[in-house]
Amino acid sequence: MIRIKDMSISYRDKLALDNVSLEIRDGKITGIIGPNGAGKSTFIKGVLGLVESTTNNIMFDNDKIDQIRKEIAYVEQRNQIDLTFPIKVKDVVLLGTYPRLGLFHSPKSKEYEEVKNCLKLVKMEEYADQQIAELSGGQLQRVFIARALAQDATIIFLDEPFVGIDMVSEKVIINILKKLKDNGKTIVVVHHDLHKVTEYFDDLIILNTKLVDYGSVESIFTTERIQAAYGDSMGSVQVRGVS
Ligand code: ADP
Ligand code: MG
Repeated sequence: MIRIKDMSISYRDKLALDNVSLEIRDGKITGIIGPNGAGKSTFIKGVLGLVESTTNNIMFDNDKIDQIRKEIAYVEQRNQIDLTFPIKVKDVVLLGTYPRLGLFHSPKSKEYEEVKNCLKLVKMEEYADQQIAELSGGQLQRVFIARALAQDATIIFLDEPFVGIDMVSEKVIINILKKLKDNGKTIVVVHHDLHKVTEYFDDLIILNTKLVDYGSVESIFTTERIQAAYGDSMGSVQVRGVS
């Protein structure tokens, strides 16, 4: 269980996250939804200690982030990654093995074998020697998933992994996430397509600077709460699966 208490985050004088307290269950896929600028990415960065927050009270079971960082994989929002950096697909995935390998140990055949397996799982093994700049959005996202797999993390955070990718890649990725969940991993996904919520997630966090609500999808994915988060921008859209 990840427990967050009283987390507020500001950028200079702008409040991006207002006193959020919640719990994330182990072994589930949790979606984080909310409109643009709601603080979804900020929430993840706060939990991972990548931006300064008001709280010192974020627990991963009985551990603080620094004690279990190796166990956590983070797939950033794609627009925050420099894609012009010259690096091959297989080397991106190899980076995933580094946290466990530790300092001063170079990868050996075991790690290279691991990279191959992970690329196979995301159906990208034929692209191992390509530059990442040559990939489509969906292929790139699959490579980042492979990197997270190579890390063998127990908790995986993904920020908008389905934005700007093809249906095949989306299917490959959601199937992998569900398989990881079945193996007991904890998955947290920032997402903004409300139509897939009931299909993809067990639990939900609804954010709009403040926490609107959190809990199981069945219990909190309601029109009322979606309007509380998205306001008029939702208009009269009928969302499939909303109770
Ligand atoms: P979301 O991921 O839900 O779209 P973000 O967490 O990226 O929202 O941003 C929340 C708010 O904080 C937005 O108003 C955004 O403009 C602002 N913000 C995000 N990152 C920064 C930053 N590095 N500096 C200043 N403001 C930021
Ligand atoms: Mg974001």
